[in-house]
Amino acid sequence: MTTNRSCGPCTLCCAIFGVPEIAKEVYQPCVHCTERGCSIHATRPPSCRNFECFWLMDDNFPDDLRPDLCGVVVSWNEDHDSVVLHLDPDRPDALAESPGADWLPVLLQVYDPVFVVCGEDKMMIRRE
Ligand code: SF4
Ligand code: SF4
Repeated sequence: MTTNRSCGPCTLCCAIFGVPEIAKEVYQPCVHCTERGCSIHATRPPSCRNFECFWLMDDNFPDDLRPDLCGVVVSWNEDHDSVVLHLDPDRPDALAESPGADWLPVLLQVYDPVFVVCGEDKMMIRRE
């Protein structure tokens, strides 16, 4: 899906995922991360270039669900048959407050179960 969106100042996935090409570990800060985004955006590694979160892929999701604003990065699971909500480790309650709380009902309409990851903590959530 093509959208007019860009990451803008969001770098939340950079803070969460590992980037093997630059030996960046999971949940470790990236040396290329700045307040205005990635300082090597044009030449960023393939792992970064190939990743798009759900908010970036689909502009039907509201602007305030941009990951840095809501504290949640939504992405496919490995099999692309469900989704994983990765919480900002500095905001472990992101799904309990607005706007992050808006993700779950929307995603559960389509996917069952969905998965939530925050650091070492992993949880599966089923549609009721
Ligand atoms: S979490 Fe999404 S919007 Fe934020 S930097 Fe990553 S891909 Fe871009
Ligand atoms: S290289 Fe850029 S896009 Fe990749 S993790 Fe670092 S700041 Fe993010």
